[in-house]
Amino acid sequence: MKQNVLLGAPGAGKGTLSQKLMSVLPLKHISTGDLLRQEISNKSQLGCEISEIISKGQLVDDDCVVRLILANTDLNSNTYLFDGFPRTLAQAKLLDEKIFEKKSSLIVYLKADLDFLKKRILNRRTCSGRECGEIYNLVSKPSAIDGICDLCGSILEIRKDDNPTTVNSRFKIFEENIDELLSYYKCSNRLLELDAQSNLDDFVINFKNKSMNCS
Ligand code: ADP
Repeated sequence: MKQNVLLGAPGAGKGTLSQKLMSVLPLKHISTGDLLRQEISNKSQLGCEISEIISKGQLVDDDCVVRLILANTDLNSNTYLFDGFPRTLAQAKLLDEKIFEKKSSLIVYLKADLDFLKKRILNRRTCSGRECGEIYNLVSKPSAIDGICDLCGSILEIRKDDNPTTVNSRFKIFEENIDELLSYYKCSNRLLELDAQSNLDDFVINFKNKSMNCS
């Protein structure tokens, strides 16, 4: 099976698509945003160093992110779905050279309207339960009881970086980098594009065939 990458703007639905893909293939989900937030909540040295960068919506240094990924993956035993990495052309090259090495890979780009996503993100609420992390939306997916997770009963939080200033910075970085990234992957014939409004279930079948075809 191929290693896999999910590209998309903040709030495009990468988490939801990841869950669907993992229901049909034995993939391990690896989100650099989650790994970095974990470091902050563990109050590790790295966590203290990156906390301000994340709260401003800027990018953490490439070396830190690569080291964190290497420490949390074993590509010889597992097949992964990378979510949130790469975000720049430099990171895409690092991913190929230092992490994938010679392993074949498939890249999915989840395309969506950026103005719509900005609004969606400001309505996002995330379960604070350590093992849960279910994502809600005040408009499109509210919890049954306001502010409480339907699944585990924990309190729902607004992610610290889901505020208008930080959201603008995250989208700016996305817009500055996405075209270069897509060109890089198009050239190597690894790119599958998907409209976030389209039928995800149809896409999942197509993805499954392509991911299992290692030629
Ligand atoms: P989103 O995609 O909604 O912006 P993530 O959870 O993927 O959220 O990332 C949150 C933050 O973590 C980013 O704004 C950035 O500060 C940091 N981050 C995540 N992935 C990377 C990465 N690949 N390189 C640098 N910083 C990253």
